[in-house]
Amino acid sequence: MSITQTTTCCYCGVGCGIVVTKDAHQNITLVGNENHPVNKGMLCSKGMNLHYTVNDKTDRLLYPQMRYNKNMPLQRVSWDVALERTAAVFKTLIKKHGPDSVAFYASGQCLTEEYYVVNKLIKGFIGSNNIDTNSRLCMSSAVMGYKMSLGEDSVPISYDDLELADCLFVSGANPAWCHPILWRRVEAAKEKNPSLKIIVSDPRKTQTCSLADVHLQLNPGTDITLHHAIGRCLIEDGKVDQDFINNSTNGYEKYKATVFEKSVFEAAIICGVAESDIRIAASFIGNTKGFITMWTMGLNQSVIGTHKNLSLINLNLITGHIGKPGSGPFSLTGQPNAMGGREVGGLSNLLPAHRNLTNESHRNEVEKFWQIPLGTISAKPGLTATEMFEELNTGKLKAVWILCTNPLISLPDVRIAEAGLKKAKFVVVQDISNKVETLKYADVVLPAAAWAEKEGTMTNAGRYISYLSKIVEAPGEAIPDAEIICRFAKKMNFKGFDYENSSAIYDEHAALTAGTHIDISGLSYTILKEKGAVQWPYPKEEKGFGTARLFTDHQFYTPDQKANIQSFGDENQSEPLTPEHPLILTTGRIRDQWHTRSKTGKVNKLNQHISESFLEINPADAKARSIADNDVVEVLSLRGNVRVKAKFSDDIKAGVVFMPMHWGKILGSDLNRVNNLTNNLVDPISKEPDFKFTAVEVKPYQKA
Ligand code: SF4
Repeated sequence: MSITQTTTCCYCGVGCGIVVTKDAHQNITLVGNENHPVNKGMLCSKGMNLHYTVNDKTDRLLYPQMRYNKNMPLQRVSWDVALERTAAVFKTLIKKHGPDSVAFYASGQCLTEEYYVVNKLIKGFIGSNNIDTNSRLCMSSAVMGYKMSLGEDSVPISYDDLELADCLFVSGANPAWCHPILWRRVEAAKEKNPSLKIIVSDPRKTQTCSLADVHLQLNPGTDITLHHAIGRCLIEDGKVDQDFINNSTNGYEKYKATVFEKSVFEAAIICGVAESDIRIAASFIGNTKGFITMWTMGLNQSVIGTHKNLSLINLNLITGHIGKPGSGPFSLTGQPNAMGGREVGGLSNLLPAHRNLTNESHRNEVEKFWQIPLGTISAKPGLTATEMFEELNTGKLKAVWILCTNPLISLPDVRIAEAGLKKAKFVVVQDISNKVETLKYADVVLPAAAWAEKEGTMTNAGRYISYLSKIVEAPGEAIPDAEIICRFAKKMNFKGFDYENSSAIYDEHAALTAGTHIDISGLSYTILKEKGAVQWPYPKEEKGFGTARLFTDHQFYTPDQKANIQSFGDENQSEPLTPEHPLILTTGRIRDQWHTRSKTGKVNKLNQHISESFLEINPADAKARSIADNDVVEVLSLRGNVRVKAKFSDDIKAGVVFMPMHWGKILGSDLNRVNNLTNNLVDPISKEPDFKFTAVEVKPYQKA
């Protein structure tokens, strides 16, 4: 007998609905959910092959393991033994070195309930803010951009707005590959409305550009210059919304002075694009009724990422294109639940429901709710993703607990993470895969349930909260991540982790949002199962599908309710190019792989698209180095090297090379790991790394 259930895709931030059928042998098949408001039945290549990752359990961690000292092999132990040892070590370290001697490093792939309990555990009970996630690597610049401009981390639009816009500016994103179903909705909108204008800015001519009316192939790091130049054109052409600027914003005059510091001609030279193309892009924006700016890692993953975000959001603010149909800024999230993590405060500088860590009354609200003494939550922000591994190296941080992520492939300048894990006094790895490289350094290994083996919720890039069903049993002794954290909290003798099920965790999280801008106190598992996905806020009185659009009254979440048009210079602070390292390396995703490939790497169909790492290089740069197409080349930076095949492409600007982020030691070699090369510079505001700008040289590889 087969059973059918609905759930949500666990890959990207689009958050597509899926219908899963399970047979008598617990094997599953799946199709897109036609009734889901996000994807309306469509799935991309990753989503439609997701069932293979569940049916194939050959690489799964099946039981807890532990080593009694660093020189011993991992041995199978019971859950009680693993968690009691971990609790004993944590108690000792906290007593001797203070609560900031331990840290949790989580993931934008954790469910909201998992994020909630781990955040509660460390901030409310251990008394440290040392929790950060791999979301720091992809969207923290967007969080700061929204906070500084709109007053809070709030995506203003709904996916449906994409079909109502008549101008879309995609800046530093390749949604055709990285958010495919959302992009299919844009393709359909363009087909229906050929006058929809699409502007794309990207140093690479990606698949997304095939739909563009104008592609601004800018030099890496010049996004602010480009956005400022477009702002200048709009002002010169009288295409700004002066009423909106006067009534609903601060900072316009300073902005105007800033963008007039460079002529459009000068900006075009710096950006490496035609002045006429900048003016065409500005004319599209200036003559539109609905204007959406859409961006992701090309802006976020930068040492000036927050300012890049703000410079783009400014284009919505000066034209008044926010809070109305088909208009607004729209940051795409890479991971399926980066948004949920933000909502529960699961980063080192956040508190639940967008409360501020530095605000005493906000801390007290959370303390009262969690029934812990006032003053327990520290006002000091904790360590961010990169800082954690740096502090393991200095010895200030003694223990790290890694959940659901693989920092030995994904962190910048990965040598730092590796040296940190070697030096750490105690490492806990909580994962689904027995292949992750971090296991080598783990003192305790905890097997977690995977997608379809546990229930919970996620929030996608458009504020839609979706429910994920438990469909099959987890293999061996693996259990859901939230249950692991709650069992550990009880071993630490903390009260408040005795949840009956994940619905109870969700209800507690929802209750803590009451009265805030992300109020979901009216939203339960029952409603989510019935409606598929709804957009927050969803307060008690809400009966529909949530709130499609924020700021419709042009009242923002700032103290004076006005949006802030922010001004700043446009100089890039990335690693300088030198004669030894004259090329700019930029990293990113490919269509059919996900993150560090622990799931997609198992699926033959997905590996057929691109089966190995590569270096995309302009033929002119290659020929100047005597490199032929498909030659094995060595790429070198000040940190390390990689060895991959060169792929010629005219689609990448001369002077720029590209490597995918996905490969690393999971295949038995670290010579294809791009983060051997990247540097550990971060944006000083968002603390997000500079993955899009590394100085490198490329040479033909000569065997010794
Ligand atoms: Fe999954 Fe994203 Fe593809 Fe949708 S677009 S099926 S959420 S990977």
